[in-house]
Amino acid sequence: MIRDAAEAVFKALLADKDYLSQLDAKIGDGDHGLNMARGVTAAQEALDELDDLEENLKEILQTIGEAVVMNVGGSAGPLYGTGILEAAKVIDENSALDAVTLEKVFSAVVAGVQRRGHAEKGDKTMLDVLIPIRDCFKAENTVGKTLEEILTEASAAARDGVEYTKTIKARRGRASYLGDKSIGFEDPGAMSSLIMYRTLCGYWRDLLKGSSTN
Ligand code: ADP
Ligand code: MG
Repeated sequence: MIRDAAEAVFKALLADKDYLSQLDAKIGDGDHGLNMARGVTAAQEALDELDDLEENLKEILQTIGEAVVMNVGGSAGPLYGTGILEAAKVIDENSALDAVTLEKVFSAVVAGVQRRGHAEKGDKTMLDVLIPIRDCFKAENTVGKTLEEILTEASAAARDGVEYTKTIKARRGRASYLGDKSIGFEDPGAMSSLIMYRTLCGYWRDLLKGSSTN
């Protein structure tokens, strides 16, 4: 199931490879889709080499994170890779699929991306999607809500995050060289984060349905 989720994310990124590069061509160097596809290939190869096909989330995240950090150039690869490696650290075999675990995972992803790239919310980067997702899972925001509701809220927050990047100027990464001219365009990294979150969301929903009928 977990490997299936990872593979669904890989597929979604490959399907939108050209779209992500087109977004990057407007405010960067046009390679974001290609970089993500390189990450997918490296991650897929590394997963295929794992002997044991167990559904070990920690090992799967660690394997993907290492492959992405080591094989993808540009900004997004090392940033995502570091975020995924940080997420692997907070997961263990007892981690349940609940809001508490997802808060830990998204906090770790955001911390990893920020440790590596020193960006904040409002800089027009992937963090304009990742931080709002994390905030939806924060304990104070989950009181009285079902996980299904929180997943849906985070999905809307991620979509709003992409929209928000259109309205602001880039302060990090290549797009920052454009200054005010970067306003009016979506950030490609924000879009790839939205694509990955939405794909994972579909899997969490299936898992929730499965666990409620058991
Ligand atoms: P490059 O910019 O090196 O060509 P990509 O095109 O693959 O790399 O990735 C660009 C994306 O990386 C941007 O759209 C932005 O979301 C993200 N990014 C760039 N710099 C940072 C940073 N310092 N922190 C967070 N995300 C960043
Ligand atoms: Mg680029």
